[in-house]
Amino acid sequence: MRTIFTLFFIIALAGKLLAGQDDRGYLVRIGQEAPDIELTYPDGKTISLSSLRGKVVMLQFTASWCGVCREEMPHIEKEIWQTHKADTNFVLLGIDLQEDAATVARFQESTGITYPLLLDPEGKAFYTYAAQGAGVTRNVIVAPDGTIAFLTRLYDRQEFNEMKEVINNLLKTPKNMSDNSYNPRFMREAIRLAVENVKNQSGGPFGAVIVKEGKIIASSGNTVVPDNDPTAHAEVNVIRKACKALGSFQLSGCEIYTSCEPCPMCLGAIYWARLDKVYYACTQDDAADGGFDDSFIYKEIELKKSERSIPFENHREAGAGEEFRLWKATTDKVAY
Ligand SMILES: [Zn+2]
Repeated sequence: MRTIFTLFFIIALAGKLLAGQDDRGYLVRIGQEAPDIELTYPDGKTISLSSLRGKVVMLQFTASWCGVCREEMPHIEKEIWQTHKADTNFVLLGIDLQEDAATVARFQESTGITYPLLLDPEGKAFYTYAAQGAGVTRNVIVAPDGTIAFLTRLYDRQEFNEMKEVINNLLKTPKNMSDNSYNPRFMREAIRLAVENVKNQSGGPFGAVIVKEGKIIASSGNTVVPDNDPTAHAEVNVIRKACKALGSFQLSGCEIYTSCEPCPMCLGAIYWARLDKVYYACTQDDAADGGFDDSFIYKEIELKKSERSIPFENHREAGAGEEFRLWKATTDKVAY
């Protein structure tokens, strides 16, 4: 029986994967371009998602019969709509699945929401984002550049708070930002790499990208385990790749986005690479909580050499220092 059940499960899972949906029924993923959809206002006017490029857009997929939606919508009204409705860079569109205008009007009134609730009579919009048979109660956050920044499913308070944070951060980003100012899209990519790395079992839970003039020039996850290389942290890997891509041993004019605050080794590598700036998401505390205690190494640096857990002994044999005399005397060297 169990074998049959397992087999059935595998077939069902394979079917889902073939249909391109994730385990929450989404056909889209964070970071990809949001597929264009057309929606209808109750008065018959239409609007396309692509016409909202440049704005932060929240798509709220719902239906009047959905209890979870009814629980969530007052929070969307109070915590998101009332906070951001005056911001012309923010658009919130409720999207009702396959119900008529009269039902939608009653639904809007009974939930007390004041943001627009649009019609999706044939479900074309919904089924562009979610698989056939998947449930409503979904929010899709679209960044000003048209990429998907966040996806929620059902009403999970922690996820809801994360969504609010994503919206806040996207709205904080100056519209005409210069090429080297913080861009949440790059951080989301570093985080995505870290998450993928764990899912694919291709290394530790870390990811990093290096950006030059507003473009990612290199990206990498941590590959300590598959490479048997204790120095293959995401930051070291990405610095190596970026240097190779630029044909240079210095990365001035570039910024690094890393999913976690760099450890002392990577901090050193970042200084050697002369990166302009470090943006990080998780902190040393998150890393320590995950079993990666960098603070231990930071503390070791402060100790006397003799007190370190790996002893450092100084033995200055004859000839030591000759290399520096030679280096200083060499005039046609490439200094760094
Ligand atoms: Zn590191």
